[in-house]
Amino acid sequence: MSTLVFLEHRGDAIQKGSLGVLSKAASLDSDTSALLIGSGVAGLAEQAAKYGAAKVFVVDDASVEKPLPQPRVDVIAALVGQHGFDNVLFQGSVLAADIAGGLSARLDAGLNWGLGDLVMDGGELIGKRSALGDTILVDVAWTSTPRLGLIRPGSFEPTESPAAGAVENVSPQLQDFSSKAQITLQTTEESSGPSIEEADILVCGGRGLGAPEGFGQLEALASALGGAVASTRAVVDSGWYPYPTQIGQTGKTVAPKLYIGAGVSGAIQHKVGMQSSQVIVAINKDANAPIMTFADVAIVGDLNNVVPALTKLVQERKG
Ligand SMILES: Cc1cc2nc3c(=O)[nH]c(=O)nc-3n(C[C@H](O)[C@H](O)[C@H](O)COP(=O)(O)OP(=O)(O)OC[C@H]3O[C@@H](n4cnc5c(N)ncnc54)[C@H](O)[C@@H]3O)c2cc1C
Repeated sequence: MSTLVFLEHRGDAIQKGSLGVLSKAASLDSDTSALLIGSGVAGLAEQAAKYGAAKVFVVDDASVEKPLPQPRVDVIAALVGQHGFDNVLFQGSVLAADIAGGLSARLDAGLNWGLGDLVMDGGELIGKRSALGDTILVDVAWTSTPRLGLIRPGSFEPTESPAAGAVENVSPQLQDFSSKAQITLQTTEESSGPSIEEADILVCGGRGLGAPEGFGQLEALASALGGAVASTRAVVDSGWYPYPTQIGQTGKTVAPKLYIGAGVSGAIQHKVGMQSSQVIVAINKDANAPIMTFADVAIVGDLNNVVPALTKLVQERKG
């Protein structure tokens, strides 16, 4: 079996989630390669090689500078044709979904999306995906190769591997129609601190904050801890905090070292997005809130007292 993992990058960093998918794929299949596409990406190959790839294909060319899906479909389809990859895996993102969809049509290949885990069963790759409002986990498979899979962001942690993979430069052979679409404007939303997928520490606010102003105290705690602020859908839907910070079924999947939920009930649709956190701390005035049943540390109390006290404690310890 052989596997190709598409690595998405922003600026001079490969997305942590992509490296997590690469590490996971390499743990299941020793013949796993990685692919970097863009302009000026050659320098990232060394970084990619450390996460289990037997080989890193690098397409470093001005024609693939912009993050457009069709040129990437061309490149991946050609690599699959030349090397016969059985699996092509992506960390789920808007770009990855576009590429995987295009590739599925181009290669007449099956695509499973929203995968939260991958396992090998009798030499067959099997994906795990939650269904029925995230109340059950189902096994999904493919009836033909190449098997295309989109993995939920944050499902796997990147793991460095002692053997560094070889790097192979590839020239892109693009179809005429692939350069018809152009990106005319690309903007970056300004934000301070790490994104919620990248942060090791997350302080998550829920409806228990009572009002959007309540997020101020969470930002202070996150800043003291060197983490980022996340949110639940209830507060995003109320316009209290921006959507990119939402954790859960219709938000992001995260796996920080520490998750602190303040005024968060722990509904199943929220839980599926954060249950892989290493340590879960819940601050809730209701001892019977669902989050208290799966938190490692459950603090029963008013968050308006607990959060400022915690922040003060952290600041004092830091000196
Ligand atoms: C199809 C579907 C998809 C969904 N997707 C998502 C998703 O991606 N992410 C998500 O988060 N939700 C999602 N939801 C919504 C989810 O079901 C819950 O409604 C939501 O997570 C609840 O948010 P919350 O915990 O902020 O609010 P609530 O459930 O209202 O909980 C507020 C909590 O704050 C506590 N509290 C109140 N005041 C205080 C105080 N002063 N101090 C301490 N604690 C206090 C309360 O005891 C309560 O437990 C989805 C729902 C559906 C149907």
